[in-house]
Formats: sequence, structure tokens, C-alpha cells
Amino acid sequence: MSDPTSSAPGDPTAAPPLDRAAARALLAWYVDAGVDEAILDAPIDRLRPPPARQARSGAGSNLSAPNLSAPNLNVTPKPAPGSTAPRPTAPRPVTPMAPEAQIGDAPRAAREAAQAAPTLEALKAAIEAFEGCPLKITATNTVFADGVIGAPLMFVGEAPGADEDREGKPFVGVSGQLLDRMLASIGVSRSENAYISNILPWRPPGNRPPTTAEMATCLPFIQRHIELAAPKILILVGGTSAKALLDRKEGITRLRGNWLDWQTPGGRVIPALATYHPAFLLRSPSQKVNAWKDLLALKQKAGELATGAEAFLEAP
Ligand code: URA
Repeated sequence: MSDPTSSAPGDPTAAPPLDRAAARALLAWYVDAGVDEAILDAPIDRLRPPPARQARSGAGSNLSAPNLSAPNLNVTPKPAPGSTAPRPTAPRPVTPMAPEAQIGDAPRAAREAAQAAPTLEALKAAIEAFEGCPLKITATNTVFADGVIGAPLMFVGEAPGADEDREGKPFVGVSGQLLDRMLASIGVSRSENAYISNILPWRPPGNRPPTTAEMATCLPFIQRHIELAAPKILILVGGTSAKALLDRKEGITRLRGNWLDWQTPGGRVIPALATYHPAFLLRSPSQKVNAWKDLLALKQKAGELATGAEAFLEAP
């Protein structure tokens, strides 16, 4: 974003400088609109009027570079009086496609790429090479997984946020820190016995909810991911993860706390438990009591499935 408080002295095209309060208000407006990253190293002032065209004086070439700093406001410029220049054609309306129309062959391509991956490493490479999900274009990193490969517990969240996108690891922001504390309360940690991933490996811009098309496209990757990670127990963190992987319409309030069977693409059945997302718990702390019940259910199931030397959860 350009700094509207500093304009080149003597530049007649520069926007008038903003005072501190106006600059803060503008910044707050950008944040509310979902802008939370500076994409380029150097700012582009998109509000700055384009420089006067040399062609008007008849000099110069008509091979001028496009004006990249001009705002694209879909406004048709008025021709200069007496100008014989051809009338510009009306801008084409940009109609967002319905999510279903955008899907095309992407889920099939993802399924083939996922199934062809014999190891987690190969799956990571296949996801990084996949070009069928537009989220990859706006993401900084492909967020694959964190934790212990071969861990008995696998946690699957929704999608990376800004922190995860920046670091390339799932659940490292505020909600990830709460998740870590919740897991620690039952003797689970990503450095010992947990493996963590998400339904989507790329961050939706501005943390918007993933579209149906994005979920459908990326689902084969996480299904294969779970199959290759082969946990003893699968924990679906939040409603988006639970509904996508269980293919259920109910909300998380109904789905959470119940043990369900989740079947890998190859047919292996893994016990699965849905629970609230830590981001939801940060907004609704009164629901932490139910999340705690889910954690206790998880600990009990882990105890039932583990025998002797296989015990994988230490007593807290
Ligand atoms: N929320 C998620 O669902 N996943 C992350 O990795 C971070 C936040």
C-alpha cells in the first residue's frame, strides 16, 4: 500500500497529503476490507492520476508501455474534444463464476495426483506442483503439515491463516497456540505424539471461508494425506473440517463429541472425533467446557486403543 502521507514535493499529480488521523482511518478501512499483507516491496499508488500523455502533442511513439499504476475502476475515459480516436469499447462486466462452474477437472486431477503419491514426501511434492487451485496463486507458502510423522493422533483443521501462510506450518497463530495448550492438557503435543494438517494447503485471501470448489478440489489431497499418515485416531478440528471429511450437512454443534468411522480411500477405517475449532473457542469461551469433554473422550479412546508398550498418551 502506498503511503498517502508522503508525496513527492512539487509533483502536481500527487494526491494531497493525509493528516495522521485520516491516514489511520484509511489504514483501518483497509484492514476491515481484509487487506493484511503488503504484496510488493515497493508501494504502488493506485489513486495517483496517470501522467499526461505525450501523444497529445503529436510527439512520441504509440508503443508506450501500459500505465500499470492507473486504477482499474471500470470507467470509460471521455475522448478529448475533436479527437478522432476510436471510441473505446465498453468494459466487459466481470461476472464471478459460480463455484461449481469453476471446478472443472481439478478434483479429478487432484485425486489422480494424490493417489499416485506413495509417500507423504511424494504427496507434499504433488501438492506443491498442483496448479488446479487458484488459492495457490495468492498464497505465500504451501502449508502441508507439522508434528510427528507416524504419530497416533492426526488433527485436521480448515485452512492456513496469515501466520501459517507466512511460516508454512499449520496452526502457528493465536488459534494454534490455544490448540497447543488444549492438547498439552491431555499429554499431547506436536513434538511427541501429534501430527497436524488442514483441509486446504493454501490460505484463502483475507481468511475468507473456503468455497465449495476449493474444498472439492483439495479434498483428495487431505484424504490421501490421512491415509499415508495412518493415525490411530483422527480429530476433525472445526465445522469446515468435520463437514468436508465426514460429508455431513450438520453443523459442528451436532457433529462434535461423537465417535464416527472415517474411511480412507483405500478402505481402512479410522475412529474420528469432531471438536470445536480453537478460533471459535476464542470467540465463544463458554464452549470450552464442551471442548474439554471432547479432549477427555479423546484421551479415553487413546487409552482404549493403546495397549502396554503401545500406550501413546502420558497421564497429564
Ligand atoms: N486455522 C486452521 O484451521 N488451520 C490453521 O492452520 C490455522 C488456523
